[in-house]
Formats: sequence, structure tokens, C-alpha cells
Amino acid sequence: MSRVHITETVLRDAHQSLIATRLRTEDMLPVCPQLDRAGFWSLEAWGGATFDACLRYLKEDPWERLRRLRAALPRTRIQMLLRGQNLVGYRHYPDDVVRAFVERAAAGGVDVFRIFDALNDLRNLRTAVEAVKAAGKHAQGTICYTTSPVHDVALFVQQARELAAMGCDSIAVKDMAGLLTPAAAERLFAALRRAVSLPLHLHSHATSGLAALSQLKAVEQGCRHIDTAISAFAGGTSHPPTESMVAAFRDTPYDTGLDLELLQEIGAYFYEVRKRYRRFESEYTGVDTRVQAYQIPGGMISNLAQQLKEQGALGRMREVLEEVPRVRADLGYPPLVTPTSQMVGAQAVLNVLTGERYATVTQEVKRYLQGLYGRPPGPVNEAVRRRAIGEAEVIQERPADLLEPELHRLRGEIGELARSEEDVLSYAMFPEVGRAFLEERAAGRLAPEPLELPEPSCEPRPVPVEFNVTLHGESYHIRITGTGHRAQDRRPFYVTVDGIPEEILVQTLATVGSEGEAPREAPGPAPAVRGSRRPRAQAPGHVTASMPGTIVAVLVQEGERVEAGQPVLVAEAMKMETEIHAPVGGVVKAVHVAKGESVNPDEALIEIEEEARGGDA
Ligand code: MN
Repeated sequence: MSRVHITETVLRDAHQSLIATRLRTEDMLPVCPQLDRAGFWSLEAWGGATFDACLRYLKEDPWERLRRLRAALPRTRIQMLLRGQNLVGYRHYPDDVVRAFVERAAAGGVDVFRIFDALNDLRNLRTAVEAVKAAGKHAQGTICYTTSPVHDVALFVQQARELAAMGCDSIAVKDMAGLLTPAAAERLFAALRRAVSLPLHLHSHATSGLAALSQLKAVEQGCRHIDTAISAFAGGTSHPPTESMVAAFRDTPYDTGLDLELLQEIGAYFYEVRKRYRRFESEYTGVDTRVQAYQIPGGMISNLAQQLKEQGALGRMREVLEEVPRVRADLGYPPLVTPTSQMVGAQAVLNVLTGERYATVTQEVKRYLQGLYGRPPGPVNEAVRRRAIGEAEVIQERPADLLEPELHRLRGEIGELARSEEDVLSYAMFPEVGRAFLEERAAGRLAPEPLELPEPSCEPRPVPVEFNVTLHGESYHIRITGTGHRAQDRRPFYVTVDGIPEEILVQTLATVGSEGEAPREAPGPAPAVRGSRRPRAQAPGHVTASMPGTIVAVLVQEGERVEAGQPVLVAEAMKMETEIHAPVGGVVKAVHVAKGESVNPDEALIEIEEEARGGDA
């Protein structure tokens, strides 16, 4: 009865942690017969970030993926990760959306729902747990493990008791950052074992190199379920290798009973598959012991690196990693996991790149400080809260209690584009990305991003150094006079525009190892020539973005009168929205930007003509 059971994560968390959630269904299906025969307790295969990645990048219907996996894995439990009231998105959904989502996921083939809340505010799990039980499926209540002045074993034990009382079928400890040490695992699981009679699961990321040891200690204290990843997708920010853990417990009372030869076969398959996704590999692989200091979870380090790269600021990674724990303390020590990891990460990036802490505060952090994500684990920094939300009310109730049912309205909004209730739910999760996906599907032009970028041509081409360009009806004569050395992924080009010297910073496609080596891997967008069709910001009335991003809303029109500090634009960078405010009061003279456009910090997005003060006009 001491057998240890394995949850294999290769189809969800392993690729989410190592290759930015890009594994495609077509690369999962060929090995499903072997996965199904292996005898895993469950296969984590859905939820988490995979839903978003399917719609946004892979142009796959996530519900279709679930159906195909269900058919290909008739004997194995399919497990999903559900972010409580956030489901698979980044905001709180009303209860009717939560119930419908769980019901459709259960009908589509999910057997085990691992349900967590980023703040361990268990009120945010209740509706999902009830919906899972109503569907007759396994509800796994989850505790996000973290360390802070407000977290200790007694608190986690109390939470486990509450989850048991809520009707959960098992309890998982989710160590997303690889923070758990063997000694801490021993203490925690001994206490949990005494307190609750439900099966205990341990999900621990290998980031800091301790997960396998922590799992062994947890197992010795009565944990009988561990999460692993097949070796080709193990280690680093992923999980301990399945084969290694199976070998470790072989011929002991904890023997998993799994066939190592079959696991070898599965590992060899994924070894080949992973090569195709080289472009999405995290910058940080191997053991990263810094997480013991920074508490940054598996997916977050690679995301931060990717975001900084897109901002042309990869060189500032260290400063951002140091800012993350400071922001976390200001927010009352939330565990770092989606969506708090993105929230804290993006705010840390803003605090570093804008040069002034909380000069710009994301909408998500504002909502968090209003209590709209739930109760923070510890007290928040009141000075930061006042700066972010002023005198706005802080709510005490469960956030979803304030939300009106949405499903009916969403069904109406998306209309004919939705062919099923599942399509409505895709739209509910991600209105912009979901709608774009459904529109592209209706038009028969779903185009997934390529796995490999085309190799640059080696043919020498004549390079023009002098040309005329026409922008907004004005013609300019451009002559390139020289180039400078690349710094932080940007190379300066010296040019003359109508004879006047200018410097243009061009973001390079890739970090090139040495001179003459062709750029091979090029994540992120095509090179952006800074200094665009928009005028350069120079006057006090010019509205600018603090970092490169996309405009999601233009709040003012030409001719409109605005107050200083009034929000005039909403920008999105790093999946977080920030308001951009009018730097001065006056009249909007020109709007140089529209919804959906990409912007850079040195551009004048809106021009405001300052009003003469004193009334002596
Ligand atoms: Mn995880």
C-alpha cells in the first residue's frame, strides 16, 4: 500500500516551463499509445497556460486538443491545472463562467482538476471545487507553497483542513518556485499527514536542484503522489525526471511499478521533439540556485527574460530579479504563481525600466491593491497602495461576489462566430485573442507561428545607403553615414535626414555570438526601427509610453479638453495593462496612435496643447 504514484507533466507543465508552452498537439499524439500504457496515476495535459498559448500562438482550439488527447489516452486520467476563480485566464470570472467552464472541461475529458488560488485565498476555490464535484470528477485542493514572514507550517495545515472540509478529494502542495527544501518538505508533510486523511500530492519544480530530494523526504512522511517530467523535458525550471524517480523508488516499499524501458522509449521520442522548439528554449537552463533568494517560479524566469528581450533590456535582468522580492513585500507577500507572478514581474520590470518605483502602476496591481484578487496573505504597503489607487475603496468580500453573470452577454457578443459553448468560453477567457482566433478560423486562415525562422540569406546584396522616404505626405532624404557598436541588443545607425545628423537605434534580431556569425535564433518581433512615423516626443504636452507595448485603448479624441493626470491611453506590455496619463492639462491637438498599434517610448503618441494659465487670454 506504500506504492508511489506518478503524475507525468510532459504534456503541460514541463513544456510550459521549458519551451514557453509551445508544444503542439501534433507532437503529443504520436506518443500517446506509450503514455497511455505507462501506468501513470494521471497525465497533466491541459489548463495552466496551454489554453492561452493554443489560441494566441499555436492557433489550435484548446477544446479540440482536449478531445483528441481524451481519445488517444483512453486508460489514463487526464489532469488539468485550474487557477480557481481565474480558470485559465488572468482575471476573476463570475461564478456562471466558472461553472460552465468546469462542466465543459469535465465533459471534454478532464478527470482531475488541480485547483489553486495565487493568494491561497480559499474563497476563490470554492465555486470551482463545487462544480468539479457536481460533474463527478476529482477535485484536488491546492496549497501554493512559499516562504515569507507570514507563511508557516501551521498556516498550510490550516488551509489543508479547510480544503478537506470543502470536499476536496486530495491535497496538493504546489512548489512552483522550487523553494521547498528536503527539511522543509519533511516538516510540512509530517504535519499535513497528521492533520488530514486525504491523499497528498507534491508538485515541486526542479529549478533549484532540490525537488527530487524534497519528494523523497515527502514520500517518507506519507506523500504518495509526485509530479515528474519525462527526462527529455525534465530538470531546469521543469520537474524531476520521471525515469530517475522511478529508478530511485525501485525495489523499495515505495516502488512505482512503472516500466523503465517503456519510459525510455517515451523519453527518446521527446528528446527528438524538443529539438524543433529550440527557438523557444528558456535563456536559463540547468540549476538556478538564485530562486532560493528571489522566489521566482519556473515559468516566470523565462517569461521575464523574454519580456526584457522584447524591451531590448535583457542586460537589466539582475536588477529586475532584485526588485521582484521588494514588490512582493509591498503587496503583502503573495506566492508567486500565475497571475501574481506576472503582476509582480511586470511591476518589477516597470519599476526598473522607468527609473522610478511605482511611477507607473499596472491596472492589475491597482486591482490587486483594491482587494479584487482576494485577501493578500500579509499587510500591504499602505504608501504604495495610496500611490496606486488613491482613496478608492478596498473590498473585503470574495471578489466574484461583486461580479454579475456574464455568459449570456458574452454569447450575444460573439454571436455566430461561436459554433459551440466551448467557443463562447474561449472568448470569455480571452476576449481579444479568443475573438481573433474565432475570426481567423471562420475565414479559414489560422496560421500558427513558425517553429523555425527562415535562415537569413547568405547572398551578398547591394545595400542602399541613400534614399528618399515619404511619410505623412512629407519627403525626406536619408543618408546612412555609419553604424556604431551594438549595446543591449541595439545598434546605433548614424544618418542624415535632409542633411541634419540623427541617430537611430535598431534592435538586432538576435544576440550574435561573434562577428560574422549569422543570427540564428530570433525570438520576438522583427527589428523595429525606432524613430517611426510618429513625431519624436520633445514637448511637455507630448504623451509617451514608458516602455514598448501595444495600445489597447485610446481614451481621448482630437479637440477634447483633458486635465493633467487624466488617463488618455491604455497600453499593454508583458500581458499587463497600464494607463498612460496626460502630462499637462489642455486641448488634444493630435492623436498619432490607434488601438492595436505598437508604440515605443520616444514617440509622441498624443500632442496636448497646454492651456495658457491665469485666464488673461
Ligand atoms: Mn508548476
